[in-house]
Amino acid sequence: MNIEKLKSNLRGLTVEDDPATVRKKSRDFYWYSPVLKRALDHVTGDLVVSPATEAEVCRAIAAAFDADVPVTPRGSGTGNYGQAMPLAGGMVLSLGGLNAITHIGPGTVVAGAGTLLGKIDAATRAHSGQELRMFPSTHRTASIGGFIAGGSGGVGSVRWGGLRNIGNVTRLRVVTMEASPRVLELTGDDIVKVAHAYGTNGVITECEVPLAPAYDWVDMILGFENMGRAAAFADRLGNEDGILLKELSVMAPGVAQDYFPVYGQFVRRDQAAVLIMVAPQSASALAAFVQRHKGEMLFRADRLPEDDRRALPPLFELTWNHTTLVARRVDPAITYLQTLYPYPDHLDAVAKMSALLGAEMRDHLEFIRFDGRMVCSGLPLIRFTTEQRLDEIVRLFEANGCLVFNPHRYTLEEGGMKRSDLSQLAFKREVDPKGLLNPGKMIAWDNPEFDFKSDRKYLFSEPTAG
Ligand code: FAD
Repeated sequence: MNIEKLKSNLRGLTVEDDPATVRKKSRDFYWYSPVLKRALDHVTGDLVVSPATEAEVCRAIAAAFDADVPVTPRGSGTGNYGQAMPLAGGMVLSLGGLNAITHIGPGTVVAGAGTLLGKIDAATRAHSGQELRMFPSTHRTASIGGFIAGGSGGVGSVRWGGLRNIGNVTRLRVVTMEASPRVLELTGDDIVKVAHAYGTNGVITECEVPLAPAYDWVDMILGFENMGRAAAFADRLGNEDGILLKELSVMAPGVAQDYFPVYGQFVRRDQAAVLIMVAPQSASALAAFVQRHKGEMLFRADRLPEDDRRALPPLFELTWNHTTLVARRVDPAITYLQTLYPYPDHLDAVAKMSALLGAEMRDHLEFIRFDGRMVCSGLPLIRFTTEQRLDEIVRLFEANGCLVFNPHRYTLEEGGMKRSDLSQLAFKREVDPKGLLNPGKMIAWDNPEFDFKSDRKYLFSEPTAG
């Protein structure tokens, strides 16, 4: 790794190398996990390069290749698995400058990878009353390239499934890590080569994604006497094809009251809360459905005066990984898991895990369409005691048939794919022959024989800074 040679090849590009800035831009929300905080706290890059165009991305990549310097792509740094942290130091390639929206058409938008999701939504709404099908609850701050490379789904997944589902990403432009970087256009089945690959096998410069009709979604909160009733209601509601939803999450009793700013006041301590975004044309049908299932309508934004409604934060900023964020603000001893309960026994599994873990866990469910079926993913709040206990809890979930996307590990295989993704490995071999893109994040690259099921810890030594 020859940093001085690299810097000499970067003349004319925006380069930052003061340690404080580089350290700041080498971090994401890894600290959600006490395990990642311990393992990654010292990680920092050597410099930050901020290209303004795809041509500058190619120049930066070619210079890094020539100087054997690792490159970690970065959108807004809101990932929470340490995905955007440069384990081996080197260049942080900050793509926020690629933020132009270059085309909006019927059902489609094209934007630079660094464009913020909230900015895209505002532009497509204003242009033609359209909106993104789905977005992470970090809608205001996250980039579309980072979402596709490091995210999985979120608000809207109750209707459209996850980013992994074919059709939810239309086309990507990707720069390869080679002596003369190529710009590839990926469509169809090729998208998954770099979607959710943590930037380990290509730098996304442009994204084309589908749009849906935009609505002035109505935020609602319902109350039920316990978690089992609330989860059963949400499961039924998610399967009601005539009611158009954008968000459907369930919080165990106490979560809203103890952690939710503003909205906690609407929920009684003994109630489990169901948080919903419903299309205005479905609001009365939903109200009837709630009554039929003996739920209690605790809050509905469409009953507020317009100014009061606009003054409230969006309800979705209490869902997905925002739930953990607001809970940690009140109690820093809280951490979390990310799991998928096994269909069709997902509700039984929710009840079983809750009984097994008792006060150590507070349930938080997100209902999503998964391969055409309504299932529930879990982002349970966990009271952290020791790393060993956290591993035991992960194994307990797995022993009860739940998939765990372990947010206390920074590799693709442990954090998301649950196996080495051979198409992503093959693509990395093709486009990043030196293995310079986000090293350490793909187990299969460092050790193709690694038998993930062997339950051995990842063989990559603790990350070394610089
Ligand atoms: P970054 O964190 O900058 O990067 C994420 C990953 O993508 C890294 O591996 C990085 O190397 C890679 N990358 C970034 N840009 C590129 C590029 N142009 N080309 C190649 N690789 C690239 N995630 C969800 O999926 N759903 C949620 O609902 C959700 N809610 C969240 C709530 C909170 C409060 C927090 C802290 C996180 C949440 N996340 C969620 C995680 C994260 O916000 C999203 O995945 C977000 O979309 C990441 O975008 P980003 O621009 O911040 O990416």
